[in-house]
Amino acid sequence: MNLTNQQQIAEIYQQPFFQLISKSRHIHQQNFADDMELCQLISVKTGGCPEDCGYCSQSIKNSSEIKVNPLLPTDEIEAIVKEAKANGVKRLCMGAAYRSPNSSALKKICEYIKIVKQHDLESCVTLGNINPQQAQELKQAGLDYYNHNIDTSPEYYPKIVTTRKFEDRIDTIKNVGEAGIQVCTGGILGMGETLEDRISFIHALTQLPFVPGSITVNMLVKIPGTKLNDVPDLDKLELVRVIATIRILFPQSRIRLTAGRINLSELEQSICFMSGANSIFYGEKLLTTDNNDKNSDHQLLAKLGITSNA
Ligand code: SF4
Repeated sequence: MNLTNQQQIAEIYQQPFFQLISKSRHIHQQNFADDMELCQLISVKTGGCPEDCGYCSQSIKNSSEIKVNPLLPTDEIEAIVKEAKANGVKRLCMGAAYRSPNSSALKKICEYIKIVKQHDLESCVTLGNINPQQAQELKQAGLDYYNHNIDTSPEYYPKIVTTRKFEDRIDTIKNVGEAGIQVCTGGILGMGETLEDRISFIHALTQLPFVPGSITVNMLVKIPGTKLNDVPDLDKLELVRVIATIRILFPQSRIRLTAGRINLSELEQSICFMSGANSIFYGEKLLTTDNNDKNSDHQLLAKLGITSNA
C-alpha cells in the first residue's frame, strides 16, 4: 500500500458520494468475488475489566448492568466450535475482557485456540494488550488473527479511553504482527467524533506497522450506564463513506461490518456491502450486545446473490 497523507485521504473520503462508491466498488470487484466471510464472536470471559473504554458495558468504570463470567470451561468452547462449524462459520473470534491476560488465563485461551484449530476453523482472539512473549505463545497455539482495535483517531482517543494510550495499542499490534499472527483492527463510528477524526482514524490505519488482514467497522451501540449513551446518532452515509474509503486504501483486506449492524436496514447493509464490506459477525449475540438474526442474514445474502462461505 502506498503511504497516503491525511489530505489525500480527505479528498478520497469527501468526493461526491456516488463517485466514491463507484470507485470502491470497482476496486472491490478487482480483488474479491461477491462473497461474505462469516465470523462468529463469543465472549469467553465477560465483565470486570479495569479499562475505562467509554462505549463498553464490561468496564468496571461504567455502571451498565452485566452478567460477569469467568473464563468458560473448555468443554463449552468445544460445543460452541462444533455448532459454529455446522453453521458454516469460517472464523471463531473469542473475546475476553482483560487489560492484559495473566499467564494462567493465556494458557487456557491457548487450549481454546487448539480446539478451534482441531475443527478446522480460523481462530481469532481479543484479549487486550499483549507483549511479544504472549504473542509468541498464541502463535504457537495456532492463532491466526489477533483483534485489537485502535477505536478512533489518535486525537479523539483520549476522550474515549484514558486508562490505555493509543500508542499502547500500536505496540500490541506490532507484537502481534512480529509474531507472525494476522492483524485484525478497526474502530467505532458515531462516538461523537468529527469528520476530521474519521479521516484521521483511517489515516492511522494506513500507518500501522502491519497491514491488517481484517478491518472492523463498528457503529456505536449505545448502552445505558456507559458515558457514550447519549451521543447524537451518526449519519449512516458517513458509515458508507468510511467503508468505501477503507476499501480504496486497503484493496485486499476483509472489511467487517460489525457492532451496530442490527440497527441498519437491509438496504443500508446492502450499500455497505456494495461499497466494500465483505465480512460480518454471524449469530444472535456479539460480546454483550444483540446481533442480527441468522435467518435474516441468510435471506439477505440470498437476495443479494452473495455467497456466504468465503
Ligand atoms: S473494550 Fe475491552 S478493554 Fe475496553 S473496557 Fe471493554 S473489555 Fe475492557
